[in-house]
Amino acid sequence: MPARILILGGTTEARGLADRIAEGGRHTVVTSLAGRTADPEPRKGAVHLGGFGGEDGLRDYLAAEGVDLVVDATHPFAARISVAAKSATEAAGRPYVKLERPGWTETEGDRWTRVASLAEAADAIAPCARAFVTVGRQELSPFLRRTDVTVIARTIERPEHPLPERVRLILDRPPYALETELAVLMRYRIDVLVTKDSGGTATAAKLAAARQIGLSTIVVDRPAGQPPADAGDVESCLALIDRHLAAP
Ligand code: NAP
Repeated sequence: MPARILILGGTTEARGLADRIAEGGRHTVVTSLAGRTADPEPRKGAVHLGGFGGEDGLRDYLAAEGVDLVVDATHPFAARISVAAKSATEAAGRPYVKLERPGWTETEGDRWTRVASLAEAADAIAPCARAFVTVGRQELSPFLRRTDVTVIARTIERPEHPLPERVRLILDRPPYALETELAVLMRYRIDVLVTKDSGGTATAAKLAAARQIGLSTIVVDRPAGQPPADAGDVESCLALIDRHLAAP
């Protein structure tokens, strides 16, 4: 029997999974996107844009749309939706599968400081440093409070609110290559790199570039209290979906 699968998206993995399920032709797939990105990349299958109205709204949606299984493929730092999705899916009596890419690990030559939050990351920057801040356009405010620090922020889309004049904004879109990351670090005379532990390959070159030149790096840990990952990549997620849907 074809199943109806809802993917909570916003990541490369979500897009890859939607394409694979749609290409398989056995099941129908809907990807939901929060609607933060003005021009989301195309994917196969249907798209639901915007939130559900919290946990209750999602539970109602699952019932109304006859969703058989939910894959939570949201970003590791999207903390609210994951907690709500797990509860709503379980309350609806449907399988919940969390697809989350593994975090990055420190290797020889890295000079990492791990912190628990963006606020701690901002506090950890040395006085008067030049910081390459790659945490997303909606998370810049703790860094803007450090008026002694020269912030060079890189975001995919322009931040909603104008930035102070002293902040340099680089607009660019992953994937990034090692050579271009090295060039950014040199050109802006960066003293410290700030990143979330997002994992994956598309944005990992900045870590390799920092390692190569011995740059100190502040890594924000993933939020606590999240549902654990059931699959770390698209292939193992597909296998898990098959197992759930085959179960009596
Ligand atoms: P969040 O704090 O966990 O979610 C806030 C609210 O946005 C949720 O309560 C939900 O609204 C809505 N929402 C989030 N993801 C959704 C989805 N896939 N489909 C439908 N509604 C969704 O999330 P966030 O950190 O703002 O991230 C928003 C989206 O951007 C996520 O889908 C995530 O995958 C993507 N993203 C986030 C980051 C990051 O660093 N946080 C980075 C890259 C991509 P309702 O309560 O109304 O249902």
